[in-house]
Amino acid sequence: MNLSDYKGILVFIEQREGVIQKVSLELLGKGRELADELGVEVTALLLGYDISKHCQEMIHCGADKVVYLEDQALKIYTTEPYAQAMTAAIQTYKPEIVLVGATAIGRDLGPRVSARLEAGLTADCTKLDIGEANHLWMTRPAFGGNIMATIICTEHRPQMSTVRPGVMKVMPRNTARTGEVIPLDYQLVANDLNVEVLEAVREEKQKINIEDADILVSGGRGVGGKENYGGLEALAKQLHGTVSSSRAAVDAGWMSHDRQVGQTGKTVRPDVYFACGISGAIQHVAGMEESEFIIAINKDPGAPVFDVADLGIVGDLHKIVPLLVDEVSVAHNSNNAAN
Ligand code: FAD
Repeated sequence: MNLSDYKGILVFIEQREGVIQKVSLELLGKGRELADELGVEVTALLLGYDISKHCQEMIHCGADKVVYLEDQALKIYTTEPYAQAMTAAIQTYKPEIVLVGATAIGRDLGPRVSARLEAGLTADCTKLDIGEANHLWMTRPAFGGNIMATIICTEHRPQMSTVRPGVMKVMPRNTARTGEVIPLDYQLVANDLNVEVLEAVREEKQKINIEDADILVSGGRGVGGKENYGGLEALAKQLHGTVSSSRAAVDAGWMSHDRQVGQTGKTVRPDVYFACGISGAIQHVAGMEESEFIIAINKDPGAPVFDVADLGIVGDLHKIVPLLVDEVSVAHNSNNAAN
């Protein structure tokens, strides 16, 4: 394989029901940064139905080129047509790097495409850099999260990676950016579309999206039980925030999995993150260390969470959290009185 035949970065743009997923914009931002370092272009690959209206936005968010394919078969995600179209796009445009969000869709699609291209793939990356000889250094947790492994692909192209949502930053939108929009010249092969979606039924469930919260009040094993979360909920309510948790609290059945922060939960970067009764295990910290301001409350002064905290409070959370609720309430009341 001649590696120099492959140039540029391709980002798979994930859309669901025509809505572009945030992780794709995060990857466009990261792709832009890597492409500037390499002196190459970023191509956004957009697949779906009635989606060409989003092409310009991809350019504003970092792409130089948008390649898109519209087809009824791409309206709702199924593996085969998406894998066909993405494989065709990569074979046509020959990017040296392909980035895909590590979502349910990306985790299904990425490996399928990499197998068709015999390219390999590093899954669930948390860091991407350009290293020696312009290879992509793909870093991800390994051995149960106890070490970070950096993986390089020296003999094949493209270098493929799935990246966890929330890890990379969306670049500031720039409406002055210009670029090229190109329809993908590929006809899906109907016989291969071996799954047909007859109906999509949405699960009736109130979804908690802790990734979008500006303030998170997170509780761990130190909270001591489901019934003790009232204080954290009161604090979150006062601050217009959301309650999240460590895995220990999820495993104990006190919190649902969609509120879990960390390596096997969500990666969050709120303005303020309260870690209450959370020890600060590496797998938890991996999901919250990018928060703007971290306040840790723990009765053990040696808890590792204090190493990542901007403000540490040593003491019993059951005494400290109610005091915080009172303080915030007093501040609210005096603000209201002043207005
Ligand atoms: P503990 O480690 O038990 O800490 C409880 C803390 O509460 C202690 O520091 C204690 O001093 C303090 N405390 C107790 N009572 C009080 C009180 N009254 N007031 C104040 N402080 C008090 N963990 C995650 O969180 N997210 C993940 O995504 C995740 N993924 C994992 C993936 C793998 C492969 C593995 C192996 C582990 C993973 N873990 C994850 C688990 C992780 O290693 C820790 O076990 C977990 O984070 C511990 O949760 P905790 O801090 O709530 O509990």
